[in-house]
Amino acid sequence: MFACKYSFFPKQGIEREIFLQDFWYFVGALSKGGQTVNEDYIIQGRSTIHYTCICPEKDSLDARHHTFYAAKAYKKLLKVSVREPQIKKTGEILETPQACQCKQRPYFYLFTHFMDRSSPVVCGKCRQPVPLYRLPRFENGAYDDILGWQEIYRNCDSLFMESGAGEMFGYRQMSDLKSNLTILGRELCTSLEKRTGVPVFYYLHRYYGASQKAEAKRRCPGCGSKWVEQESNVFGLRCDKCKLFSTVALEFQNADPSSRAR
Ligand SMILES: [Zn+2]
Ligand SMILES: [Zn+2]
Repeated sequence: MFACKYSFFPKQGIEREIFLQDFWYFVGALSKGGQTVNEDYIIQGRSTIHYTCICPEKDSLDARHHTFYAAKAYKKLLKVSVREPQIKKTGEILETPQACQCKQRPYFYLFTHFMDRSSPVVCGKCRQPVPLYRLPRFENGAYDDILGWQEIYRNCDSLFMESGAGEMFGYRQMSDLKSNLTILGRELCTSLEKRTGVPVFYYLHRYYGASQKAEAKRRCPGCGSKWVEQESNVFGLRCDKCKLFSTVALEFQNADPSSRAR
């Protein structure tokens, strides 16, 4: 991922509050379009406003990636600016995932975890996140649905990782086929599959198991078939009928799902 500095130049005489209203609408649209990730802040200069943000790719902020809402907000912002905003790429951020550059992807999978800030749509070939603006848009013209699912998933994973009062709630949401989070995630997979024409798998988390023996016999909770064991699949278990990925209970593997997936 890349750190960028976006500088804005408000017209003289425009109230700061009025300018900021249009500004927040624009940067909100950038985030909902997957052009930035939600770690940003603004710095007030003498006659400028600097917005620093993190982007999946070097050219993420280009206008050609704007959603309908971002394009509209950008036009509005230009009317209260002396000149066009300037983008400066500060540099690549160490130890963050590179965006997928594959020309063709055999499949995608939906995956995130409590520390993840990348796109949750991952390429099955290179296992790197696919920036959302490179995917066909949902009906509302943005990616709110995917980002909303990711936010809830990250929160559930945080509850699980904290091992406190919400641990089992978070775990159930991520591991139960019938949880609201799983249902929502699988609906998104189906919708994305229709738009891309590429299979989209959903990862069903698995940390606890009754025993190693029982784990070996465990079947797909969707159709009851035997899981296909596949080393090339980052999680290990796969069901093509249900478009599910899962793993042998991680407590028996001494592994962290986030490090296995990316
Ligand atoms: Zn790829
Ligand atoms: Zn199945």
